[in-house]
Amino acid sequence: MNIFQKAYCRTYQFVCKMAIPLLPYRQPERLEGYDAIADVMQKRNLRCALVVTDKTLRELGICDGLLAALEKNNLGYAVYDGTVANPTTDNVAEAAELYRQSGCDCLVAIGGGSAMDCAKAVGAQLVRPNKTLAQMKGLLKVRRSLPALFAIPTTAGTGSETTVAAVITDGKTRHKYAINDFCLIPRYVLFDSALMVGLPPSVTAATGMDALTHAIEAYVGRSTTKRSRRNALCAAKIILDNIQTVFADGGNIQSRGNMLRASYLAGLAFTESYVGYVHAIAHALGGKYNVPHGLANAVLLPYVLKAYGKTAYKKLWKMGLYAGLFDKTVFPQEGAQAVIAQIERLNRQMNIPQKLDCIAAQDIPQLAKTAAAEANPLYPVPKLLGAKQLEKIIFEVCAVDN
Ligand SMILES: [Zn+2]
Repeated sequence: MNIFQKAYCRTYQFVCKMAIPLLPYRQPERLEGYDAIADVMQKRNLRCALVVTDKTLRELGICDGLLAALEKNNLGYAVYDGTVANPTTDNVAEAAELYRQSGCDCLVAIGGGSAMDCAKAVGAQLVRPNKTLAQMKGLLKVRRSLPALFAIPTTAGTGSETTVAAVITDGKTRHKYAINDFCLIPRYVLFDSALMVGLPPSVTAATGMDALTHAIEAYVGRSTTKRSRRNALCAAKIILDNIQTVFADGGNIQSRGNMLRASYLAGLAFTESYVGYVHAIAHALGGKYNVPHGLANAVLLPYVLKAYGKTAYKKLWKMGLYAGLFDKTVFPQEGAQAVIAQIERLNRQMNIPQKLDCIAAQDIPQLAKTAAAEANPLYPVPKLLGAKQLEKIIFEVCAVDN
């Protein structure tokens, strides 16, 4: 990247950072227990919820507590359980149709990022019936209040319960894009750690590392605020303290609850302060090879942090200090290296590979270009890298000795 491109990126990011206090960020209101959802519905005179979830979760009985509470309180519901991983425009169209046919007046998303993103997009489609989802792609194209949206996350990772984004895949072209608008932030959130007890260890590990990546990328970036730094530090500490426990003992409700809280805090942090090249490359790999998002992030995180070099030492040191990985006698460089080593250790312990063998060498230049186009100039990364430098990182991750 030449000096002019760098100056352009930094100026763009500076303007975005200055705008942070002016933007209408809001946090979802936290509800305790399913009856609280019914209470809110009754107070707001809402009579029928569209529950957006997927087939597996429904069959596992994950929605039962919610549905029982709605029935007990004489509230109606319809369930859309057709959401697939990487929800499609068809999912959104079907769910929106069911909403209309069933006379629903609010949305409850219960599931991981896919169900939540699907419900957000349904809300956007309902208030913008004359626009296609593709026309709402990008920033601030919805600009209308959604029907009340309740989010009940069943994984601790995406943070979608608090973010402005809904990522949707076109059912025909498979093009994946994000709709970003403040009105997509769910109105209410409910954490039920018991729903996560049956989550397989591999999913627990990948989603937990996704949340850690959110916290770290937001924190080491240049557009942090006092609030996003605090949220990111708290999230990283909680994840580092709990992720091995939930991986080894999925039934540990206390640790599951901690991870839910951490994923939420990390979501708040990156909503304000963005992510970085880990996410940019992970999205490129997800688009090309369908690599699960959390897994790609977990593998990439140490490589990208090493590529940031000394520009990230101080922040990583502060994070490690806060998380109790070492004390103040440790120098920033050593501290940063200790944080990266800890991430590598966690990956190893949770059977996350060091490299990704799905990456074909001939695809790397295009993958790097896609990642660079997503990240530059938007992501306020500690060190700007062009497509050529990202190629080097992806090449390291794909090395044939996997
Ligand atoms: Zn992520």
